[in-house]
Order: sequence, then C-alpha cells, then structure tokens
Amino acid sequence: MDITAKGLEHTYNPRTPFEKRAIYGMDLHIRSGSYTAIIGHTGSGKSTLLQHLNGLLKPTEGSITIGDRTIQAKEKAKNLKSIRKKVGIVFQFPEHQLFEETVEKDIMFGPMNFGMSEDEAHQKARSLAETVGLPAEVLERSPFDLSGGQMRRTAIAGVLAMEPEVLVLDEPTAGLDPKGRRDIMDLFSRLHREKGLTTILVTHSMEDAARYAENLIVLHKGTIHVKGTPEEVFSSAEKIKEAGLRLPETVQFKHTLEAKLGVRIQGTPMTIEE
Ligand code: ADP
Repeated sequence: MDITAKGLEHTYNPRTPFEKRAIYGMDLHIRSGSYTAIIGHTGSGKSTLLQHLNGLLKPTEGSITIGDRTIQAKEKAKNLKSIRKKVGIVFQFPEHQLFEETVEKDIMFGPMNFGMSEDEAHQKARSLAETVGLPAEVLERSPFDLSGGQMRRTAIAGVLAMEPEVLVLDEPTAGLDPKGRRDIMDLFSRLHREKGLTTILVTHSMEDAARYAENLIVLHKGTIHVKGTPEEVFSSAEKIKEAGLRLPETVQFKHTLEAKLGVRIQGTPMTIEE
C-alpha cells in the first residue's frame, strides 16, 4: 500500500495561545513494500507525522493518501477504521498496552473485536507466537510474568494479528539491551522480506536506519530536511549536522555503512563526503 503526503501540515491547538505548527510542507511518497526510516531530533515532528499515517491525526493543511483513501485538510474524514486496520503501529513501549489475563488472549483481542471466530483467533495466536519467536508454552501465561523482550514480542504479535499491510515502528527497540535490540530489528527485517510488509521505522538510531532501511527521511524543525537512499543521505554529512544529528563515529557504524553502500570508507563516516 503506497502512502503519499502532499503539502502535509499539522498545527496543534490552532487559533489559541498554544498554537504550534508541528509539521508543514511535507511532500513524501512511501512505496508499497519498501522499508523507510524517519529520523530526526526530538521535537522535529516524527511523532506528529507518524500519527497521520493511520488517520490518528488529520492534516490541518494538505493531504495524506493511504492506499486508496485520501484524507484532506478541512474535510470530515469518516470511517477510518479500515485504514487503522491496514496500518499497524507499534508504539514506543508497546508492552505498556498489554492488559489481558494471558498472552494468547492479548494476541487474539484485536481480531476477535473485528469479528474473527474464537477458533480462528486461537490458531492465529499460535502461529503468530511462532512468527515473533515466543515459545508456545508462554501463551497460557500472564503477559506480566514475561521478560521485557517477550512482552514486547507479545505486543508486536497483537499488532500483526490484524494483518496490517503497513507496519509503523516507533522506536521499537527503546529500553532493550543490545542483543534484544538486534533480535527485534531482525524480526522486522524478516517480516518485511517474507511478508512484503511496507515498513516505516521511526528512530533516532543512525545505526538502525543505515542497517535496515532502503529509504531515509530526515526531519528537522517540522519539515523534510533531506531524503533519499542511505547512500544519498549519509553522503551529505553537512545536512545531517544541520538537522542536529550526528553520525556515530564507531567502527561498527562504519562497517554497517560499508556493507550497505558497498564501498570502503576511509577514515570515519563523518568524512565520507570527501
Ligand atoms: P518528535 O516525535 O520528533 O519528538 P513531535 O511530533 O512530538 O516530535 O513534536 C513536534 C513539535 O510539536 C514539538 O515542538 C512538540 O512540542 C509539538 N507538539 C507535539 N505534540 C503536541 C501536542 N499534543 N500539543 C501541542 N504541541 C505538540
């Protein structure tokens, strides 16, 4: 499912003393089946943009088209339920939204709300547990007895249970240890590859953006500062700096970039423009 924004703008609390234009002038196209990372400093507008991707927020100017639905500013957008089903959002710390008695019930909650039979939902929960790497025996346990990584996998399975076509990930590895981070990011990579899920990763990790995404969108002060392939974006170190971001000067990041771009980088990544 393609997503296209034209002149997208969002102002919070318009015409009040608390008016705040959080994003503006955004033109972007996210191709069906692609893997895009949205990067930016705190306050650059990532979360505001993200909430337009499934109709949680509506444009105050411009438009956003999600699949065959266009949501225009100043137009009553009704019936957004189908969009919300097609675009699954894994919010930060999604395990905070777990609430059922068992892991299985938590995974089944969404589909059963959308009319799936209990038998089918059971099947789905079992197969999704496998997909996200949860051992079958945890399905009967309380989600609150699980490890942090397993709780997160449960919450992710709950989002996948709705069979989204687009998966939006908001800092999905926040709070996990390095191994947990890598495992979760590899899981999303696999879902992208094997299920063809359009994947949109909101992150401030340059490492993850460079390693996993095919397209990058760098936000700065509410608008798109630079976008393109990792090669295009990371070769304009000046633009990255202007956006208040820094390329990590680690050997690991250098190797990630080298693998992604298929080039040898002399010196640190900060010097790749030369
Ligand atoms: P990011 O996710 O990149 O940190 P946000 O989209 O949360 O950025 O914020 C962009 C700007 O909008 C910031 O200046 C922020 O203070 C402001 N903002 C975010 N949410 C609200 C809100 N609910 N009401 C008013 N201003 C907001």
